[in-house]
Amino acid sequence: MKTLRRVLLIVVLSGLQVADASGQQQQQTEIPDNPLVALRVGQDQTKALKVNDAIFQAIGFSNTFLVVTSEGNVVIDTSMPFNAARHRQLLRAENSGPVKYIILTHAHGDHTGGVPVWREPDTRIVAQREHADFQHYQARLNSFFAARNAAQFALNIPQPAAWPGNYGATIAPTVLFDDRYEFELGGLKFEVIHTPGETYDHATVWIPQYRAAFVGDNFYASFPNIYTLRGTQPRWALDYIKSLDRVLALKPEILLPSHGVPVHGSAEITRQVVRYRDAIQYVHDETVKGMNAGKDVFTLMRDIRLPAALDVGESYGKLSWSVRGIYEGYVGWFDLNPATMYETPASAVYPDLVRMAGGSEKVAALAMEKAEVVPVEALHLADAALSADAGHKGALRARLRALEVLRDRCRNSNERGWLEFSIRQTRQRLGE
Ligand SMILES: [Zn+2]
Repeated sequence: MKTLRRVLLIVVLSGLQVADASGQQQQQTEIPDNPLVALRVGQDQTKALKVNDAIFQAIGFSNTFLVVTSEGNVVIDTSMPFNAARHRQLLRAENSGPVKYIILTHAHGDHTGGVPVWREPDTRIVAQREHADFQHYQARLNSFFAARNAAQFALNIPQPAAWPGNYGATIAPTVLFDDRYEFELGGLKFEVIHTPGETYDHATVWIPQYRAAFVGDNFYASFPNIYTLRGTQPRWALDYIKSLDRVLALKPEILLPSHGVPVHGSAEITRQVVRYRDAIQYVHDETVKGMNAGKDVFTLMRDIRLPAALDVGESYGKLSWSVRGIYEGYVGWFDLNPATMYETPASAVYPDLVRMAGGSEKVAALAMEKAEVVPVEALHLADAALSADAGHKGALRARLRALEVLRDRCRNSNERGWLEFSIRQTRQRLGE
């Protein structure tokens, strides 16, 4: 937490504006392609965004929504722990009624982090039944995910925590539903609908009276993170498609994603959601066609590109990772090469190859030569040189240069997070 605050403080103040001081101005903006800017979205918000007379939004990397009724309020998603108190203050300034329900669109920490801040003794917490399994999965791999999350957002890696066991998560929801959960509060009907996509427990909240659909992370202003580098179980492309169709069938007039700003108007919502759905469908189907045609995963990662009409941007999810996520989600890691059946990776022979090539110095020089033009090849060469001599300065400098070239070209938040993390790591190894 301290680290995060320090990092947030040093981030330039001219970050993304999604709302002015009055909180009313809005525009559809891509998720920032810099994780530090993305994390501080909304930090300068001084008044909650008023969506309509009853719905208010506190902005963060993940938003918190407050729905006001005459018999108490409903909170939808709770953002990250470091945003929660600020969000609660902004939203309670609009209405300080009791929190009767918290609805969690899914079990990711940037949606559940503020539950302790919002929960009151009588609050019902609603999530889809898979929420429990997902929490156990995250807790089971607690130290693995803590390290990966920190690295992706260019933060310091925390010390490993105690292992809570396979089923050691604390389950906050008091209501776990299967396909649909409905309730009424202050004359307002709420429908919570299972819409798997980003996670298996993902849900959409529908308020028919306002024609408002809270779609969590199944829609945001970038191609979705069908595979995320920090690690994930498969996120099934066809689940997203079915779930987005379910949202379209509701014919919403207001679409409220948990990242970004609301979209207003049935025609505009349909346009954006249909394009999003079709982009996912396209990438899925091209991957499947390629698999059936016997193409390997790297070829498909290179070749599959969205047609211009379906280009929804890649500032958060990236097409190539999604292609690999779909491919390996369906069939796993084996690539038909017998050498990869065994526990000896190709890198086991790097030291021999480096020696035959004249040593780490020569390989590092070639890596540096390639760093500007084909930086990924330079990274592989630097890896080879470092496998023969772990502290080789030339190889580390080539690695650093290649990473910087990639970082300067990068237009994706998660990719940038990993590049910045690796740049810091390489600098440390160079003693800088
Ligand atoms: Zn999220």
